[in-house]
Amino acid sequence: MSLPVQNASVAPVPRKRMLIDGEWVEAASGRVFETYNPANGEHLADIAEGQKEDVDRAVAAARRAFENPLWRRARPTERQAILLRLADLLEENFEELARLDTLDMGMPITFSRSRKTRLLNFLRYYASLTVTQTGGETVQNSLAADIFTYTVKEPVGVVGAIMPWNSPLTQTIMKVGPVLASGCTVVLKPSEEASLAALRMGELFEKAGVPAGVVNIVTGFGKSVGAALADHPGVDKISFTGSNATGQRLIEASKGNLKRLTLELGGKSPHIIFADADLDAAVPVAAMACFSNSGQICSAGSRLLVERPIYDEFMQRVADYAKSLTIGDGLDPATQIGPIVSRTQFERIQTFIRRGLDEHLTFLAGMDPLDEPSLKTGHFIRPTVIAGADNSMKISREEIFGPVLVGMPFDSFDQAMQIANDTDFGLGAGVWTRSVSTAHQSARAIRSGTVWINTYAVLDPAVPFGGFKTSGIGREQGRHQLDAYFEEKSVYLNL
Ligand code: NAD
Repeated sequence: MSLPVQNASVAPVPRKRMLIDGEWVEAASGRVFETYNPANGEHLADIAEGQKEDVDRAVAAARRAFENPLWRRARPTERQAILLRLADLLEENFEELARLDTLDMGMPITFSRSRKTRLLNFLRYYASLTVTQTGGETVQNSLAADIFTYTVKEPVGVVGAIMPWNSPLTQTIMKVGPVLASGCTVVLKPSEEASLAALRMGELFEKAGVPAGVVNIVTGFGKSVGAALADHPGVDKISFTGSNATGQRLIEASKGNLKRLTLELGGKSPHIIFADADLDAAVPVAAMACFSNSGQICSAGSRLLVERPIYDEFMQRVADYAKSLTIGDGLDPATQIGPIVSRTQFERIQTFIRRGLDEHLTFLAGMDPLDEPSLKTGHFIRPTVIAGADNSMKISREEIFGPVLVGMPFDSFDQAMQIANDTDFGLGAGVWTRSVSTAHQSARAIRSGTVWINTYAVLDPAVPFGGFKTSGIGREQGRHQLDAYFEEKSVYLNL
């Protein structure tokens, strides 16, 4: 956000409006904020800066749309048709959307593009949930024979969906998909660091036939728009993805009307390499589990636990792999490591690196200067591999959200599990072994929402994703996720 303005193009900077009640509108105050390309400081757009009064307007529109029988009582197949049309539109416009993510937050274009199948699968999966997961059940009771009991699922109401910046297109789909599938309505708040993909998706929501007011998008900052959503009495549920600190604030802010909460928060995920693993396969995955998207991934495998006999060799191989990665502007198809999203985040990561230097840890990769002139204009950080830390150090305990991998040796299965679980987080974990027994025992022993064995970071819409411990509350993905968008009503009928 704080890069100098270097608007190389002669075209005027686009001005982006918010979507409220089916209209593209300026903020009531008329204010805008600027968004930049973190690779080169280019001023990409001026975006309407929403405030509480814009949130009030959007929540009122979402409430009207929710109360409108045309939406609330729409047949499941009608909502399914909207989601399927949306998937087709996403497919048609995917290249443009992938480029927007790359421009706005620096993600390498090969990485943005690689999400296409997954995101289409998501929307088509949500479409299937509209017809399979929205019904209640007949319940066998032990009362008088004439009392018939059943449940119905009713959409929870107006959802406030608050998104982070690290994967804007994916987040937009993950937030809006279950809303459309369940019959809720939403006020979506993209991150102030990367709002462009969400706004473009807003146009596609309209084109797909989403009725006015069902999806509203209010752009702006967390302390104004996000906070106004969190304590708004007209919002029934918050679906939040972001940092633990903000998640905790949301719990506090949403207590007034006891909002339902789905929280997808941070991680410090262990990636465990046993000596019997296929090391050739494990090296690149162990590296990219941490360095993909410059480490700006919630489930990044940022603690690498390696069995002692192979520790030195494995760490060196991961470091060599890290050094081989091409750093640059995300739009270049050769780029594997793009810039960090903002100056603030860049400085935060540097603080962790400096602390590692102060503690005399061993830097196996990452310390070479970034001399290339093309890298001087953006917030680039080399993939960094650190040895010699123990699990009690801040660098091993706090989420860095940058390309910094900390390696630690272990001597036994029990010790590996102890280190893996010695964290406040519990989002993801990786295990590499050829032993079926070690694989299953690890999967049971690790306290995290997802365990990947001999792979990492693969995701499928049918498989739940979320956190144990401080990594969150609830799950996204999976067939039961829609339950978080419904109230369940029980009916007793005396025949
Ligand atoms: P953040 O918490 O700073 O911001 C997230 C969103 O919350 C932004 O839209 C921001 O404007 C808003 N916000 C900030 N303060 C607020 C407040 N007081 N009230 C309401 N809203 C507020 O997080 P970030 O830096 O954008 O994202 C990085 C974090 O997100 C990391 O911790 C990462 O692990 C996490 N994350 C988690 C997942 C997951 O699925 N578990 C996925 C992606 C990112």
